[in-house]
Amino acid sequence: MKTYISPWPQTAALPPFPRTVSVLGATGSIGASALKVMARHKDKFTVTALAGGRNAKRLAKLAVEFRPEFTALLTDEAAREFKSLLPSDYSPKILVGPEAYVTLATLPQADLILSSIVGAAGFPPTLAAARAGKVIALANKESLVLGGHIIRKACHESGAVILPVDSEHNALFQGLLGHSSEDGLHKLILTASGGPFRGRNRAFLKTVTRDQALAHPNWSMGAKISIDSASLMNKGLEVIEACHLYGVSVDQVDVVVHPQSIVHSLVEFADGSQIAHLGQPDMQIPIAHCMCFPERVTLDVKRLNLAEVATLTFEKPDKSAFPCLRLAFEAFQAGPSHPTVLNAANEVAVDLFLKERIHFLDIPAMIERALSDHAPIPVDTPEAILDLDREVRAQVRGRA
Ligand code: NAD
Ligand code: MG
Repeated sequence: MKTYISPWPQTAALPPFPRTVSVLGATGSIGASALKVMARHKDKFTVTALAGGRNAKRLAKLAVEFRPEFTALLTDEAAREFKSLLPSDYSPKILVGPEAYVTLATLPQADLILSSIVGAAGFPPTLAAARAGKVIALANKESLVLGGHIIRKACHESGAVILPVDSEHNALFQGLLGHSSEDGLHKLILTASGGPFRGRNRAFLKTVTRDQALAHPNWSMGAKISIDSASLMNKGLEVIEACHLYGVSVDQVDVVVHPQSIVHSLVEFADGSQIAHLGQPDMQIPIAHCMCFPERVTLDVKRLNLAEVATLTFEKPDKSAFPCLRLAFEAFQAGPSHPTVLNAANEVAVDLFLKERIHFLDIPAMIERALSDHAPIPVDTPEAILDLDREVRAQVRGRA
């Protein structure tokens, strides 16, 4: 049998329509785009579970619209507020706390899990879904950065399938479809918009504010990924994500800056052919591709008109002004525990930057220090990864 280069084992059975969906991270930016797709194609989906974090009002609004049987929030306080906002004719099960997300990721009646929590908190439920043999539409790239090796093994053992929501990896997925390892995959080329500070030098970056960093030129996203895009850490995390999804070495992944965000990534084969995926920068496109796969559906997104766009440009990333990209490549090369350190230090640093307690350039500095202090350890179990994650967070916070 040919080995296809894809996270989707072509022998896997995809669930029939209507698909029963559990949305983890329903109140976020990806959650909103996914629910827009599901509202547009009601005949294709039944929403069985919606999980938010602390935003009770937003979750209540969504729950009233989609009427899931299960809901989850992070705290008792948020759950009480959520309950108080529901109408008298609707009383879903309300689960609370981190374990609730694992429960909703493994519900027997859910055949499609949208993993769209932000950060390392997405790792336990994503792994649980992988172990339970689910079809996972994966936005939460951090879970692969932490434990891609464990998640892929779990998928292999259970028959779970990962469909990549991240626009670059979805583009690669579309470029790889139908190709087998015999076609000679040469490189995966990830495009990066360059973020709001493209072309700026370190002197400028020293002075940038939270609001400037949050103002992404092309994409509307949650706060953490917006800062990651400004520092280029988002691309660094995506390089690691690509290595895990497609089983390639880090030397086979290139990054090219493409400020228009129209070409979402490219696959290069042995014969020199490069296959690109183009589209408007709207997350509904990759989300719908995953959730309806292998069908294509009509979406209410602006059509791409290349004559209107006129110019597509490409340039090398500036790894000296934006060291996070280099740090991610180095962390992945250094060994299996370094990416967890990279991610934990980044999450703490981004949080401190969003609270205006550190400067923008302190983000790479804090990550570099955490990585250079780290002595590699085995991370063969999720417990070892989560312990390391907690330890690094405490260390990095302690130094701030
Ligand atoms: P967001 O901040 O808008 O939403 C995050 C969601 O996670 C919210 O529903 C929030 O309530 C929930 N959440 C936060 N912390 C939690 C915790 N500890 N436990 C449980 N739930 C928690 O983020 P987003 O922009 O939607 O991004 C979500 C994920 O998707 C991230 O991993 C991001 O990297 C990835 N992603 C996002 C985009 C995008 O365009 N927004 C694109 C590609 C990938
Ligand atoms: Mg992306």
